[in-house]
Amino acid sequence: MRIRLRRTTCQKLKDQTLNQVLSNDEVEKPVEREVRRSKPLPVYKGYDLVETNENWLTTKNILVVLAHPDDPEFFLGGSIARWIKAGHHVRYVLLTRGDKGSNDPRLTAEQIAKIRIDEQRAAAEFLGVISVDFLGYEDGYLIPDLEMRKAVVRFIRKYRPQILVSCDPENLFPSQQYVNHPDHRAAGQVVVDAVFPAAGNQFFFPELLEEGYEPHEVEELWLSLTGKPDVRLDVTAHWNDKLQALKLHASQIGDPRAFEKRMLERAHSHQGKDFYVEEGFRRIIFRRISG
Ligand SMILES: [Zn+2]
Repeated sequence: MRIRLRRTTCQKLKDQTLNQVLSNDEVEKPVEREVRRSKPLPVYKGYDLVETNENWLTTKNILVVLAHPDDPEFFLGGSIARWIKAGHHVRYVLLTRGDKGSNDPRLTAEQIAKIRIDEQRAAAEFLGVISVDFLGYEDGYLIPDLEMRKAVVRFIRKYRPQILVSCDPENLFPSQQYVNHPDHRAAGQVVVDAVFPAAGNQFFFPELLEEGYEPHEVEELWLSLTGKPDVRLDVTAHWNDKLQALKLHASQIGDPRAFEKRMLERAHSHQGKDFYVEEGFRRIIFRRISG
């Protein structure tokens, strides 16, 4: 299920209707196409010295560790779809259950958590993610302490990914319009702290050895939601998968039509394509002293 891009001319684009950008004849169940753009697509300016490819020669086990249900799809849903379509294996570990993800006074935190767990499992299943683990920390209160670091190390050692994915803990202000959620920064921090040196060193958290979790070194760390990307993946062909997965987080997106419109405004015009979507990452490829 992919969107097929119609090569519209700039003149047509000025008419600013969605159905001129997206051909809907291959879309499984797109929302109505009458929604109007509020402004023309921005022109992609390009970035120097940025990779645009994973350059992976083998099938990878990829572990995504983030704070909340919906973070994987919002931050990197297109890349997750791209990786799974390419045959890689993706798992999620989420630190919280998103239990503060509503202001509806009729709902308890437990009820919100249950809704969000169900939504996250549905979105993950839609994309083809192998498993989703919820560590159950309280939403909004994440502190990247030693106990949480051990919990993350346990899952790195359990699933033994070559590629570990989180978000950039240094990203305090993702844009001039909002401040990053402290849980996102905390999640990024605890993952960075867990991957080196604790995950690969037997002297960290020896009780994990007793549980049967041997040290494990990952090959690469990818940090989404970053202001300093050094790799940008073209996820245009996976945009519809990302959108459909996000819509499964129904409690979080509000009106689906307005949501789709907002999402579409992130698209660029790029290299002759009228519609282009990418996701950026800060990428660390660990240099091994041995082996
Ligand atoms: Zn979040």
